[in-house]
Amino acid sequence: MAQPASRLESAPPLPSLIGMNPDQLAHAVGQCGGRPFNGGQLAQWLYKRRVADLGAMSDLPKALRVTLAEKFSTITSQVIARQESGEGTTKLGLRLHDGLVIECVLMREHDTDDVSGPPDRLTICISTQAGCAMGCRFCASGRLGLKRHLSAGEILEQFFHVADLLRQEGAAQGRPESWLTNVVVMGMGEPLHNFDGLMGALEVVNAEWGFHFGARRVTVSTVGLPDRIRELAGQGYQFNLAVSLHATTDEQRTSLIPTNAGTGLKAIIAAAADYFRVSRREVTFEYTLVGESNDAPDDALRLAELLRDFPRGNVNLIPMNPVEGSGLKEPTAQAVEEFTRLLRQRGVNVHVRRKRGRRVLAACGQLRLQLESASGSPVSG
Ligand code: SAH
Repeated sequence: MAQPASRLESAPPLPSLIGMNPDQLAHAVGQCGGRPFNGGQLAQWLYKRRVADLGAMSDLPKALRVTLAEKFSTITSQVIARQESGEGTTKLGLRLHDGLVIECVLMREHDTDDVSGPPDRLTICISTQAGCAMGCRFCASGRLGLKRHLSAGEILEQFFHVADLLRQEGAAQGRPESWLTNVVVMGMGEPLHNFDGLMGALEVVNAEWGFHFGARRVTVSTVGLPDRIRELAGQGYQFNLAVSLHATTDEQRTSLIPTNAGTGLKAIIAAAADYFRVSRREVTFEYTLVGESNDAPDDALRLAELLRDFPRGNVNLIPMNPVEGSGLKEPTAQAVEEFTRLLRQRGVNVHVRRKRGRRVLAACGQLRLQLESASGSPVSG
């Protein structure tokens, strides 16, 4: 972990305005001598205009802005690196107030092969923790263990950094700024392990007064914590659920994901089925293909069998992105093809994830490993 540069940096952060609902914003404004309607103005600036700089909020009284800045924080993280894949993916490395580093990613996607026009989808991939406690062997995020949960405000700050990026792009191209169409919680960390932070952020993401993304445009990816999957179902949202399965026997899964020892495949699939029953949302099972580990034809057959009775599910195959020092291999193109063919033959709905952004070390956590070993590195374009 990087050492804080000053005492100020290590002081506990002030409560953040980012993440507050309109009532809480009105209360915060009241504490600073403002009028209740100023809370509504603040919500507009934050969640509709995506501006977090109090100095820019020109219709709020100056004195109020000064007092707000003394009592509350807004953006506490800083962009310290930026990597472009050349395939429409931009990854940002963010330094948190305490020196920890996280990542968020912007993906620009076209629905067809014609990539000349503006992208059809702009997706943000957000982190929910600094580090991760799950320890998946093929994942760089868990390499250094869990450092801490992100607050709802810190999770949401990632949207503001991407908004800045899109605003700069729009200005450079002489057009209005574009905005995100989709949200995936697939960055660093296990979202359901930081349940409160996640739910606080997703409330703002989904709410009419907030960023207002329809629940169907939001996907939460989990390593598979059965109790928390049911708790998520009980929240009354219709978020898409992606479950990282990655194996077809418990022995194999535990060797890739140590925390599986305490859960087990059957319990995860049962919880995912409950999620479908409550939310009526199709569940995606993610399967990272690791060469000579879980990519054999027998694995494909067992996977089809495991999901045979699943009410409505589909499989997302992700050829492993190599992670230095993991001792794991990428699958061969033939293995990926055969795995896909066998699943399709058995009626499983399969997608193979393109290797997007390999050049920006797309697999989660890899940029951060680099940045933390060279802490304080400047922003690179
Ligand atoms: N903790 C959550 C979300 C973060 S990881 C989860 O486990 O789902 C998002 C997805 O990327 C997961 O399916 C994860 O297994 C996969 N992933 C992580 N590292 C990878 C790598 N090196 N190659 C391919 N997929 C990877």
